[in-house]
Amino acid sequence: MASVGLSGVTKAFGDLVVVRSVDLTVAEGEFMVLVGPSGCGKSTTLRMIAGLEEASSGTIRIGARDVTRLEPRDRNVAMVFQNYALYPHKTVYDNLAFGLRMRGAGKAEIADRVARAAAILRIEPLLARKPRQLSGGQMQRVALGRALVREPDVFLFDEPLSNLDAKMRVHMRDEIARLHREVGTAMIYVTHDQVEAMTLGDRICVMKDGVVQQVGAPLAVYDRPANRFVAGFIGSPE
Ligand code: ADP
Ligand code: MG
Repeated sequence: MASVGLSGVTKAFGDLVVVRSVDLTVAEGEFMVLVGPSGCGKSTTLRMIAGLEEASSGTIRIGARDVTRLEPRDRNVAMVFQNYALYPHKTVYDNLAFGLRMRGAGKAEIADRVARAAAILRIEPLLARKPRQLSGGQMQRVALGRALVREPDVFLFDEPLSNLDAKMRVHMRDEIARLHREVGTAMIYVTHDQVEAMTLGDRICVMKDGVVQQVGAPLAVYDRPANRFVAGFIGSPE
């Protein structure tokens, strides 16, 4: 487990600055939601934390370590995407085990970690199946399981529910909240959906045009929006 700290983090693609001088601290065990309209820089911010994009300037810290220039594999973070990215020809068990095998984990340790993750996510009955034999919600749970077996310091989610229908979205939202309660690891969750943000976040970070507008507990942001944009976006009366 670890905290995450961003200090002056900026990302430019050529002349286009898409994330501007972001300062943000996520406490150990905290569920932080990055929320804002499409194109405001949420995914880019998350990808910089994961190491999938390099920050143009600023510092990213995980626990006591400065990870700004580290490769993704050296950061001990796990990212869950909306498109699951499961290996279609491998069983659920092998999908969960794959990353551990690549890291050189032994057979017994892999079996142990997979069993624990499968129990938490209630996917034990699915371990022998292939992805095509799973529903959307089951695939999403397997994708969560693949992050969970790695026992990361931080979980990163990029709009993980956007491919699900409304009913399944609510169900999986509750599953993610339950996972957070059970593992107690810091989570950073990107969404453009205000309801998801308000429901899941211990705190939310509202972004617009690459700039953080306000960080706070959902109700505090709702009751005391920092500006008109936040008021309009979160839906609170001005
Ligand atoms: P969000 O996740 O909030 O929708 P993104 O972080 O994906 O926003 O994108 C922020 C801005 O950066 C957008 O204008 C997007 O077009 C731009 N952008 C993202 N990735 C790249 C890239 N690799 N090259 C150029 N522009 C990019
Ligand atoms: Mg995005």
